Amino acid sequence: MREELIRAALSARENAYVPYSGYAVGAALLTEDGEIVAGCNVENASFGATNCAERTAVFKAVSQGKRRFRAIAIAGGEKGKEPVDYAYPCGICRQVMNEFVAEDFQVIVARSTADYQEYCLDKLLPHGFGGESIR
Ligand code: ZN
Repeated sequence: MREELIRAALSARENAYVPYSGYAVGAALLTEDGEIVAGCNVENASFGATNCAERTAVFKAVSQGKRRFRAIAIAGGEKGKEPVDYAYPCGICRQVMNEFVAEDFQVIVARSTADYQEYCLDKLLPHGFGGESIR
């Protein structure tokens, strides 16, 4: 499943709309029921309107009625080239993922299906702010 998820992230990356940075990212989210929902980053001339690949995938999935996720694979780098580095999710995306996942949610940052690192979200977002924080 991990390889399939990474392949989906690499594939989604090809659709990244990145005319300004040239930094193309793909993400693939594994839902609780085993579906894969992919997303890419979408830039905008008004830079603040840009959306990351991870959030694209999460918002897509939620808009399809899926709200529980097991893992996400992320791959990013210069458009048109193989990823050279691991693309870690930004702070905003870590926070968005935190809204819909359990403690064992896995974040996989990949350069290829054979070259990746895997983290629990809790390690990337310790003491995250969640719904229970405001009850
Ligand atoms: Zn982000």
